[in-house]
Amino acid sequence: MTRFLNIKTGLVLILMSVFALASRAECKPVIIPIPAQMDVTEGVYVPLEKITVNCDDAAAAGWVKNHLQEWYGDNAPQVKGGKTPSGMNNDEEYTLAIDEKGVVLAAKTIKGVRWGLYSLRQVAMAKRHTLTVNGYIVPKMTVKDAPKSEFRGMHICWFKETRAWEVERLIRLAAYYKMNYAVIESWGTFRSEKAPWYGWPDSDMTKAEIARLKGIADDLGITLIPQLNVFGHASGSRGSGGKHAILDISPEYQSLFEPLAGWNWCLTNPESRKVLITLLAELHEAFGNPPFIHIGGDEAAEPSCPECCSRPYSEILLELLSAIDKAINEMGARPMMWHDMLLEHGDPRWKGFYDHGTKETAKAALTLPKDIIICDWYYGDEKPAYPTLSYFQELGYSVLTCPWINTGMRGQIKYAQAHGMYGVLATLWNHHYGDELVSMYCQSSCLMWYGDDPAIPSRQNNFYNHLRQMGWDMKLKDHMQFGIYRYDVPTEVLNPHF
Ligand SMILES: [Zn+2]
Repeated sequence: MTRFLNIKTGLVLILMSVFALASRAECKPVIIPIPAQMDVTEGVYVPLEKITVNCDDAAAAGWVKNHLQEWYGDNAPQVKGGKTPSGMNNDEEYTLAIDEKGVVLAAKTIKGVRWGLYSLRQVAMAKRHTLTVNGYIVPKMTVKDAPKSEFRGMHICWFKETRAWEVERLIRLAAYYKMNYAVIESWGTFRSEKAPWYGWPDSDMTKAEIARLKGIADDLGITLIPQLNVFGHASGSRGSGGKHAILDISPEYQSLFEPLAGWNWCLTNPESRKVLITLLAELHEAFGNPPFIHIGGDEAAEPSCPECCSRPYSEILLELLSAIDKAINEMGARPMMWHDMLLEHGDPRWKGFYDHGTKETAKAALTLPKDIIICDWYYGDEKPAYPTLSYFQELGYSVLTCPWINTGMRGQIKYAQAHGMYGVLATLWNHHYGDELVSMYCQSSCLMWYGDDPAIPSRQNNFYNHLRQMGWDMKLKDHMQFGIYRYDVPTEVLNPHF
């Protein structure tokens, strides 16, 4: 019996080795997010020397040329322009055809051209047998690709300790993974000129820095959306830490906030509303007048001042949000907000989902302006259905599903796509490092774009390559700016109680 098992095991091992030689996963090109269709001639690589960009957009070939020069310098391939082939209807679709004659990249608009070039960059590798780079090779393959979700975003938090280069790298990576929006949330970090007392005085999020990031984002094909919390989270700091970005340093502004920890803005104080609209307008302008502004709205507390306690909070909330919606519309934009305060906690319909509202705040969902984009966050396991997403959609809102580091990301995104929702806003919160960073970018981008998240061979190592390419583009030089942690030994390990 033992002998039989050994022979059988040996045979299996031999068969596995043959299989591994024939189709070693590491030798196959990987594109993240996974393309809709990709056919590779296995084992055949051709020199990357010529690219034809077939796109009616006059700026497309020039954009390709500039970026190839940036990435490959003297080894950049030659670029030739051409017309969009017939039959291309989606602004973001593209095709790639790579063979011995060269590369042909076709798209209807520059949007598709960008996504196509990012795919090409991911599969290009330095020629072998040289000490230093002397040209690039690419696999013989064809790609036909288009996104499943229209809105594909990453929500990025700009904390006090977040450095501008970190935000830039996250924006660049989101574009590289074919996301078309990035929400940048100020955690008390926006350096307002209109209200200089707002936020931590020495944060990195200056108007000059925002303008620089916007320039990069526009060029890479991703739109930056500012976020300022107009309801709860008014402290601009994490609730668990007890800091307050305004009150800790400027106690003279106490009347703008609810007395209990200053967590909510005081919604009945007309000065709070004025300040919020001023800050939103200033942010909107600083971000170059994008089509959306995120106004937060999650995890607010019960009111604690006599005026806010004296009337139904739903009325007060509705007045504030309607005024802010009107002001944002006048800026030429639409508000986006988190969903949870618009669901009554304990309502059996939302069991297993996130509902932080009261009967009062939940009433606002019925009467709020329907141009608001509802960002419905869900961080749990996969569910057979997502009643909160459907509820807001049936009320007439555009709805985004918003996953975090949960295992159920796949279900909620597939549900949103199957039910014709607007798209996906993935969130990082304070996990913009480590394995969760890898997972959020790789898995969410595949789901948003490809519509599923099958196992990606060597996902972690492919991600490291991509992160390194972003570092090259940014000309980073410091040890702490590379990889997925600032330090070789992560501070969480050195200081587990942090
Ligand atoms: Zn109040």
